[in-house]
Amino acid sequence: MKTIISGLVQNVRFYRSLKFRIFLIVLITGIIPVIVMRNIMVRGYENRAMNQKTSEVTNQSAIVAAHLARTDYFSDTSDIVINDELIQMSNLYDGRILVINDDFLIIKDTYGKSQGKYIVSSEVISCMNGSRNMSSVDEENRYLEITVPIVDENSGEVYGALVASASTDSIHDNVEVLDRRGRFIQVIISVLVVLIAYALSSTLLRPFDKVIKAVDSVKEGFDPGTDSIEVPDYTETRDIMDAFHHLMSRMAEVDASRGEFVANVSHELKTPLASMKVLSDSLIQGGDSVDAETYREFMQDIAAEVDRENKIINNLLSLVKLDGEKDSEIELEPHDLSAMLQQLIKTLTPLADQKGVELLYEEKLPVEAEIDETKLSLAIMNLMENAIKYNKENGWVKVTLDADMQFAIITVSDSGMGIPEESINKIYDRFYRVDKSHSREIGGTGLGLAITRNAILLHRGAIKASSIVGEGTTFIVKIPLRKDI
Ligand code: ADP
Repeated sequence: MKTIISGLVQNVRFYRSLKFRIFLIVLITGIIPVIVMRNIMVRGYENRAMNQKTSEVTNQSAIVAAHLARTDYFSDTSDIVINDELIQMSNLYDGRILVINDDFLIIKDTYGKSQGKYIVSSEVISCMNGSRNMSSVDEENRYLEITVPIVDENSGEVYGALVASASTDSIHDNVEVLDRRGRFIQVIISVLVVLIAYALSSTLLRPFDKVIKAVDSVKEGFDPGTDSIEVPDYTETRDIMDAFHHLMSRMAEVDASRGEFVANVSHELKTPLASMKVLSDSLIQGGDSVDAETYREFMQDIAAEVDRENKIINNLLSLVKLDGEKDSEIELEPHDLSAMLQQLIKTLTPLADQKGVELLYEEKLPVEAEIDETKLSLAIMNLMENAIKYNKENGWVKVTLDADMQFAIITVSDSGMGIPEESINKIYDRFYRVDKSHSREIGGTGLGLAITRNAILLHRGAIKASSIVGEGTTFIVKIPLRKDI
């Protein structure tokens, strides 16, 4: 059973292969014209030969009929000259001649069999009634029959009819010979076409085998930096290989950035641990000489480092979760963005107060949009938190809500320290900080904007930052109002 199934699968694979299809196309285009040509030639010859014979016999019969009309053969059939002429003609065409008078009586039969009998065929009747020559073909018995009227040239009186039948054996024999030769040529051409089709289907597809081998070589390790496999035989194979190299380079990039990410994560997670180790070591080494105040201070620092570690881990988890989600997986529900932003402002007011930063909110339009509230809240919260964190004493943060026909537009601007131009495109990278020590000091993890951007992209939205160092930064976020936009 298993072997039958694998045999079937193998067959299906073969019939679906390009090789088989090329083979079939060459075969069909090679053989069908040969078959058609053979038939056209044979049938063409047959028709031409039949027409020629018909007109030849008709002409000859008309001449004899004219001759008969001029003699008194109908009263005396012993005319030797005429009889000779009739016999000669019947011999010439390997056939039979009948002369019929106007009473439908056969007065002469070159076979002698039917003489004295009556004949009432439709052709003879037609001729008696004034029709011109008639012809019919008997395929089965292989003869053709011509009936011509015997008419007085002057009075137009119909004396009778002449029926000449001529054998078509020679035509049929020729057709058979021609057909046999055609068939022979057809077999030879078919064999040649099969060989050509096989050779073509194998050679034309050879470059694709190279492509498969190249892709297979990835299993043995492929370095897009140094390894390069070219298959320049066709434009298509070159394109496939270009795409393949592109893919491999992309994978190498992804691999490298994953490695970098892991290195960054370990480094970031180790930093608070190192601080805690230093703090606790100094307490242990200090022994009894450390006073209660110092103890409290050090323990507070250790607690802060634990919080930091926690924050990094939570941010990492959010990021990994967002990374794993696809557009189709997020659940978009209609939400009042104004309510969402006001709730965020409420949550962040204590932090803003602590930093002495004023939080402002402006709503140009009430906006409802189809969003995943948890994810978008997190994204905007990170922007607002940054705007507060990287602000100056007595600074301000302004959040604006607006919309156009397609998008909800949320702007977060601040009067803070700004971002240098060369960093503006890097701030969304994981663990990127403009000023590492300052960011760490104020509790940054370098993951906030990466999370924000991922959450916005999941909404099929966009984020753009513009900044002037020393004056402030503005983030503009656009989110489609409906998921079908
Ligand atoms: P962090 O946790 O360090 O704040 P983010 O990913 O949120 O990490 O931000 C990356 C970096 O971008 C920050 O370290 C900071 O240097 C810079 N940044 C972000 N927002 C602002 C802002 N509003 N003003 C100035 N700098 C900012």
